[in-house]
Amino acid sequence: MKSKRLAEYRTKRTFSKTPEPPGRIRSSRRHPIFVIQKHEASRLHYDFRLEISGVLASWALPKGPSLNPADKRLAMRTEDHPADYAAFEGVIPEGQYGAGTVMVWDRGTYQINPDESAAEQLEGGKLKFTLKGHKLRGGFALIRAGSKSQGSKIEARWFLIKRRDGFADPKWRIDRHAESVLTGRTLKQVTEARRTKRRSTRDH
Ligand code: MN
Repeated sequence: MKSKRLAEYRTKRTFSKTPEPPGRIRSSRRHPIFVIQKHEASRLHYDFRLEISGVLASWALPKGPSLNPADKRLAMRTEDHPADYAAFEGVIPEGQYGAGTVMVWDRGTYQINPDESAAEQLEGGKLKFTLKGHKLRGGFALIRAGSKSQGSKIEARWFLIKRRDGFADPKWRIDRHAESVLTGRTLKQVTEARRTKRRSTRDH
């Protein structure tokens, strides 16, 4: 299948040096997944990823998602990631692209508004979907604000907005949801686990 879709992802990384997966494109699923990774790189942000056409379409959110419909959260489109990236939690070594700790903050499945396919909505700059995660549930919209392409890069400004429904929470505070849904660990604990592992490797 179109491995070109992961070309930018692969070009940016050296897989002998980073624990991230080189990845494959998977066949489309009836219930595609979403994942949000909390990423303490040079700046802390949250990576929001939706499985579309076998890869994870990705956006970086400086403030993370919100369940408050009054919040418009900036989401910068980044390169597509492989589907198996959804299980990645660990530390990207210094000197590598995106160096820092990655934690699986939330994951689950999503349903797209059925009028158009997810690929068509992505192309059109307006995605409407319902998330079924552990922390995030209910309807959301991702709306493209800037121009579609800036030079050869796909990076562009989008906004993530919670729909007003039974899952909306005007009192939402992201700092009350600090743990990984995969392992229950905080970012700090994921970082420290690696230090401990490296120390014991040296000792033996
Ligand atoms: Mn990131």
